[in-house]
Amino acid sequence: MATAENQIYTSGIFNPIIEKCEGCERIIEVESQKICKTYINPEAKWKLGICNFASHVKPEITTSKIKINPLKASKRAMGKK
Ligand code: SF4
Repeated sequence: MATAENQIYTSGIFNPIIEKCEGCERIIEVESQKICKTYINPEAKWKLGICNFASHVKPEITTSKIKINPLKASKRAMGKK
């Protein structure tokens, strides 16, 4: 990586990544410090739950598990005349 680019990451604006970031593709290593190139404060990013930029974890999508019995549903529909 170019030195000029490195300067941005070592300027003190960027905070080091936290444990939960391990495995994320957005981590870059600058002067033996692991930094997130997308977010300057990874710790804050994880405070509210899963980081939405994370490439290694995905939030669980909760789908409705209500199953409709097709037979009952059709009977119910027939009853509504
Ligand atoms: S994108 Fe999110 S999970 Fe990945 S390194 Fe940055 S803060 Fe961490």
